[in-house]
Amino acid sequence: MLEVKDLTVQYGAVRAIGGVDLSVDEGSLTAVLGANGAGKTTLLRAVSGLLRPKAGRVELDGADITRLPVEDIVRRGVAHVPQSGGVITELTVEDNLRLGGLWRVSGRRDRAALARRVAEMYELFPPLAERRAKTAATLSGGERQMLALARALTGAPRLLLVDEPSLGLAPRVVAQLMAVLRRLCDEDGRTVLLVEQNARSALSVADRAVVLDLGAVVASEAAATIAADDRLRHAYLGF
Ligand code: ATP
Repeated sequence: MLEVKDLTVQYGAVRAIGGVDLSVDEGSLTAVLGANGAGKTTLLRAVSGLLRPKAGRVELDGADITRLPVEDIVRRGVAHVPQSGGVITELTVEDNLRLGGLWRVSGRRDRAALARRVAEMYELFPPLAERRAKTAATLSGGERQMLALARALTGAPRLLLVDEPSLGLAPRVVAQLMAVLRRLCDEDGRTVLLVEQNARSALSVADRAVVLDLGAVVASEAAATIAADDRLRHAYLGF
């Protein structure tokens, strides 16, 4: 579904990633792992069109999307959940959710579909249902990450790009989030590209994993193969 070919992204003279290849199958969960500064966030931002690569291609369903405007990439079904979640803290949980899908609405039928998707999010994330009328500022870190994911999902994306959802969360909450990401693939047929520094958690739910170091791919294997590779784990994954 997603093919990244020989991708190079620079910030001015600084090369953040160089010659990165990545292939993601529809309905799968792929983890992008590696230490701080390895280039994970840069890769994700280049896929969603937020950064313009210096060289290489990004293809979605065989079409070149490398230089499309962000809104066109979103329309093709790509949603990006940034590292801090990006929820609007002044708005209620409900309004954040509606906002995530509002761009799809142009008529009454669309509005009904959006209401249905919001209701589905409350089923998927019951704590959000209890807090639907509260502002997002009142949520815990884990609830905010749930809201960030749910908000992206109300836009009914096919490919979900998630940047370090586990940051700052308790292990139990991380496990819940990882389980939700897995279910999105297994039950809804969505495709997930998950950037994580918490390699152990990500590998526990991923089908495949890519390990980045200094902006280059050092391994691209089945998640179980990477989890079983002591050398890779010690050198790049910190467990
Ligand atoms: P983290 O987990 O800290 O987000 P990462 O693996 O996502 O790390 P990136 O944020 O993609 O890594 O950074 C890759 C490289 O690009 C790093 O060397 C970083 O210092 C550099 N970099 C990132 N953003 C910028 C920027 N806006 N300007 C200049 N250099 C940057």
